[in-house]
Amino acid sequence: ENKDQKFVYDFTEGNKDLKDLLGGKGANLAEMTNLGLPVPPGFTITTEACKVYLDSGEEPAALRDEVSAHLDALEQRMGKKLGQTDDPLLVSVRSGAKFSMPGMMDTVLNIGLSDKSVEGLSKQAGDERFAWDSYRRLIQMFGKTVLGVDGELFEEALDEAKEAKKVTVDTDLDASDLKKLVKQFKKIVKSGTGRDFPQDPREQMDLAIKAVFDSWNGDRAKLYRRQERIPGDLGTAVNVCSMVFGNLGPDSGTGVAFTRDPASGHQGVYGDYLQNAQGEDVVAGIRNTVPLADLESIDKKSYDQLMQIMETLETHYKDLCDIEFTIERGRLWMLQTRVGKRTAGAAFRIATQLVDQGLIDEAEALQRVTGAQLAQLMFPRFDEAAQVEKLGRGIAASPGAAVGKAVFDSYTAVKWSRSGEKVILIRRETNPDDLDGMIAAEGILTSRGGKTSHAAVVARGMGKTCVCGAEELEVDTKRRRMTVNGTVVEEGDVVSIDGSTGKVYLGEVPVVPSPVVEYFEGRMHAGADDADELVQAVHRIMAYADRVRRLRVRANADNAEDALRARRFGAQGIGLCRTEHMFLGERREMVEKLILADTDDEREEALKALLPLQKKDFVELFEAMDGLPVTVRLLDPPLHEFLPDITELSVRVALAEARKDANENDLRLLQAVHRLHEQNPMLGLRGVRLGLVIPGLFTMQVRAIAEAAAERKNAKGDPRAEIMIPLVGTVQELEIVREEAEEVIAEVQARTGVELKLALGTMIELPRAALTAAQIAEAAEFFSFGTNDLTQTVWGFSRDDVEASFFTAYLEKGIFGVSPFETIDKDGVGSLVRNAAAAGRATRPDLKLGVCGEHGGDPESVHFFHEVGLDYVSCSPFRIPVARLEAGRAAA
Ligand code: PEP
Ligand code: MG
Repeated sequence: ENKDQKFVYDFTEGNKDLKDLLGGKGANLAEMTNLGLPVPPGFTITTEACKVYLDSGEEPAALRDEVSAHLDALEQRMGKKLGQTDDPLLVSVRSGAKFSMPGMMDTVLNIGLSDKSVEGLSKQAGDERFAWDSYRRLIQMFGKTVLGVDGELFEEALDEAKEAKKVTVDTDLDASDLKKLVKQFKKIVKSGTGRDFPQDPREQMDLAIKAVFDSWNGDRAKLYRRQERIPGDLGTAVNVCSMVFGNLGPDSGTGVAFTRDPASGHQGVYGDYLQNAQGEDVVAGIRNTVPLADLESIDKKSYDQLMQIMETLETHYKDLCDIEFTIERGRLWMLQTRVGKRTAGAAFRIATQLVDQGLIDEAEALQRVTGAQLAQLMFPRFDEAAQVEKLGRGIAASPGAAVGKAVFDSYTAVKWSRSGEKVILIRRETNPDDLDGMIAAEGILTSRGGKTSHAAVVARGMGKTCVCGAEELEVDTKRRRMTVNGTVVEEGDVVSIDGSTGKVYLGEVPVVPSPVVEYFEGRMHAGADDADELVQAVHRIMAYADRVRRLRVRANADNAEDALRARRFGAQGIGLCRTEHMFLGERREMVEKLILADTDDEREEALKALLPLQKKDFVELFEAMDGLPVTVRLLDPPLHEFLPDITELSVRVALAEARKDANENDLRLLQAVHRLHEQNPMLGLRGVRLGLVIPGLFTMQVRAIAEAAAERKNAKGDPRAEIMIPLVGTVQELEIVREEAEEVIAEVQARTGVELKLALGTMIELPRAALTAAQIAEAAEFFSFGTNDLTQTVWGFSRDDVEASFFTAYLEKGIFGVSPFETIDKDGVGSLVRNAAAAGRATRPDLKLGVCGEHGGDPESVHFFHEVGLDYVSCSPFRIPVARLEAGRAAA
């Protein structure tokens, strides 16, 4: 707490750019005041004061005097004192944080009323009913929010008063009814708190201010901040504003308005108005509001003025604004404005509309939309109006809405989908064996595993809906059913899963398709006469982004189909082709042979059998990506992933032995499984280590790449293959692999007579690689940051386990606001990336730098990679538009 710090600002002293200090509401009230709009006078207590209070439990020492000075000034201006008995000044005390947290924090109106001043107000207003109504509202709000009395008690008393009078709306209660109600409310306060409702107006105000500070840490507010990723240490400002009254009769009222439709973006008169009411009545839905357009016939003068103010605000803020206003006896007052929330679709439409109106330029338009909004627009969605039966909830791992019959194994998933059924594959967790089933399914549901579990990563890669880690589900694969809180779901029962919310439903929830994906897929053209407005807006915004972005965007794709989709979505190459998927399915047997080989001959034979198949994969991929770079990563995962499960195999062998018909191959397989078994396979024999201990494995892959490239060149294609070595920790590993690879490439060149320019590079996905990047760059023509493994190894977090085990607790405790597997941890992992990029470039100035971990498609991370100076990001095909947009936003 600094001595000269100013904790209170008059509305005339602030402006809209001071949101950090004055909160959104305070900054905008100041802005409107300075625009000359009719704002009731008042002042704002800063978020800094709140922070001091939250940190120390005490308000800053200087605050009381500062508030007194501002209150004096306000009283002079208004010509009356707070709570003055014959003609009281009344104020509202409202919360207002930097980011809007609607309804999450406290507000108290009518501060300054007491048993005495209510009479003064009554005389001044010439309206007894109004004065007592205001007083009962104060006791109710103050009792509930400041003194912590159960709000239901007041509601019940109000209902009883209405019932006793046989009326349904509160306006039908007259002054004497309200006087009785006030008595009762005061009793409720007394019995709930053991003290009387405070009669001293300044005490009311001070307590209300403190209550607003405290409400920053209320449960609702904390939960909301966590969901919206609002930091927990910002604090709230407090606005003290002289009261104006919408409940002074039929020529008074209160309303909300939008300068354009927050759902469609269209300009027009949108909002609601409620005659003879105070602010909270509109939100609480106590009486029915009328459309804002009706205000024209109720009070033309105020209506016209409001329309004019709305125009002023739009031109001033250059954006959709929402507004709260009150009319007091025919006089219009502005109580709040802010740049309004809008749907994802409206954000795109409004941004382009404002460009057309000449209010903003293209660079600004890019700041008006987000990648998250675009992602939302790309997923098919469940129809919100539908009737649903919720079963449970898991982690929203890969967005989208999927409906299908429950199946509990991949074999059934494939079989049923071949016969035209839509299925949801439900597993405890998935493994590479489930790939076929995952491809066949509409969506994937697991009861275990977090956002980087196999199911989640693979599903995101395929753009397939996935809910994982739904722990309430008891999946019983054997009996082909699951039980969820007592409900049994059998194979064939229809379920619906929402990968954007993690919700799981029983039965079919209807789905609506996304026109934006139809557009990216080329099935809908933005120029077409019937193209909807949304598609046109997305088309234009994407063009702005592509024009300004510096980062290139590549795809993580390992087959031609994904590559082609990625191209349609705007990919400028493949940044990561994982070759492990090329070793599954029917090729698995060959891989088994390779692993079991006892002699060089046996091993070579196994490799020879794999070579043409690998080559064919690459030919297809290079053709799909003709003219664009394709980074092929040599085999990465531990070998045990290609072998049967150790327990299952042990049981099988044991049973066979008991029957005395154990088969030789199974026995050898079991031995191999034991030999390859590791406690920490992710830290074991994988990546470059495999290439170094299994002779011929990497050279076979390099040969397949080189031969495929030669074949494409001979077919007049333009293959641009790059070979990437995974999990390198030291330059020596890379040097050995590089030498062998260069030999093979030279040999293929000599034999085919085709000149091949194959860049050789490495992943940087171990801390040691990042720390020795200067040396590694000697042997690498490019770096691709593998931020999945890098995050795992820098934090020491198992990427397959932690999200389901302790991340929830970490998120709740605020240790991090978002999983570091989702958004790059800038301070830790990010700083390694930044330094390694610089060190690599110092060694080799033309070193190409990219990232291919999941972070490559995460909006916030894309901004970071832009800032660090990488050349490209690589992400799953479905995230490419989002990465393009965010790369544009980062550069604009
Ligand atoms: C990584 O580690 O970031 C990476 C891209 O490789 P993988 O996810 O295949 O381990
Ligand atoms: Mg990796």
